[in-house]
Amino acid sequence: LTERLQKAISGLRRKGKVTDADLRETMREIRLALLEADVNFEVVKTFIKTVRDRAAGTNILEGLNPAQQIVKIVDEELTKMMGEEAVPLNKSPKVPTVIMMAGLQGAGKTTTVGKLALKLKNEQKARPLLIAADIYRPAAIDQLAKLGHDMEIPVFSMGTDVNPREIVKQGLAQAAENKNDYVFIDTAGRLQIDELLMDELADIKTIAQPDEILLVIDAMTGQNAVQTAQGFDQRLDVSGVVLTKLDGDTRGGAALSIRAVTGKPIKFVGQGEKMTDLDVFYPDRMSSRILGMGDMLTLIEKAQRDFDEKQAEEQMQKMKENTFDFNDFIEQLNQVQNMGPLEDIMKMIPGMANNPALKNMNVDPKDLEHIKAIVFSMTPAERENPDLLNPSRRRRLAAGSGRPVVEVNRMIKQFMEMKKMMSGLMNGKMSPQMQNMMN
Ligand code: GDP
Ligand code: MG
Repeated sequence: LTERLQKAISGLRRKGKVTDADLRETMREIRLALLEADVNFEVVKTFIKTVRDRAAGTNILEGLNPAQQIVKIVDEELTKMMGEEAVPLNKSPKVPTVIMMAGLQGAGKTTTVGKLALKLKNEQKARPLLIAADIYRPAAIDQLAKLGHDMEIPVFSMGTDVNPREIVKQGLAQAAENKNDYVFIDTAGRLQIDELLMDELADIKTIAQPDEILLVIDAMTGQNAVQTAQGFDQRLDVSGVVLTKLDGDTRGGAALSIRAVTGKPIKFVGQGEKMTDLDVFYPDRMSSRILGMGDMLTLIEKAQRDFDEKQAEEQMQKMKENTFDFNDFIEQLNQVQNMGPLEDIMKMIPGMANNPALKNMNVDPKDLEHIKAIVFSMTPAERENPDLLNPSRRRRLAAGSGRPVVEVNRMIKQFMEMKKMMSGLMNGKMSPQMQNMMN
């Protein structure tokens, strides 16, 4: 989706002026891109009409930079389609907050229970209880038990011979006794929606009176994702959606359609199998990502989460005081390397996603090793005070690291620019949105 949309838009960008015909052609391309990405047909129709009307209404053809205006309209309408604001988890005024999962088999319910429980534990010091109510696959209980064990979160289970309704009742009683503040009910799924499953889920809903019913949808199932969502929602009236496996979904159709079709907000997205691979769903960021503008904020959040917090704080302080040095730089490089494949990270930087320069840039882990080699050739004094690095010292670094002098120079220049940018960022040049995130 991203690629096609970008093509449609970059066609416009090259033009100084946009004619009626250009606009029609662009809208046609966008329409095709959306349909190809499995966005629901009705949703596409409405979307195109809205964008076209807005584009026509704003005198776009005479505008200063018409292409940018259209991109802005598309961006805003995509965002609107996905719900505009991030919607937090419901919270009950009195404990516990009960969260019930629903979704097809393999959608990611159990994994998401683990991810959410861990998030609440880490962020709010919550004390959740996980109820294992999927009795149909013996392995399902073990799976939840293992997650709970690894994260030190208690799991309530009664084996596979007890009716799930009874398990939920007793699980809730246990949560009341232990004063757990959150209860997650991990339910069974089927390969397809069937009545027996729906009856069971409806009964569990009646018993548990959940504050939140999270429908877990596999983003890779495309059009089926929307049908599944409708099916579950009609029967259960869910309160929110978790879209999983977004890491494997290159088309993005499900993210775009689900809100429009069901009216239910996507609250979280799963972006991998690890327990930390869960993110709050921000419609505006998703839209930027689809449009290939990158997803800087998610990147920053990812970095924050993966950073050792104390270290990050120290570095932040140093950036503020502008004393960030090569030792800190190495620290950061190590952390970046721990964050995962570099390509994934680079893709989230605005303008990088489809930037041909990226391909020539060879962001291969070797580059990081070269940078490290240069820094390790510095004396401690040089690392702390990069201003010492005069030409003769730089030649020494080149010899010591086995890298050419130009590369040493380039690296130092990049470091200086980064340092300048950081201290700028840290000292109030950030947008209020970013500042919020840093606090
Ligand atoms: P359930 O049947 O709905 O409980 O699904 P599970 O939680 O057992 O997940 C099914 C499979 O999908 C497991 O192998 C998970 O590791 C995997 N999975 C779940 N969420 C994600 C995600 O966001 N990304 C990826 N790549 N895999 C996921
Ligand atoms: Mg499961």
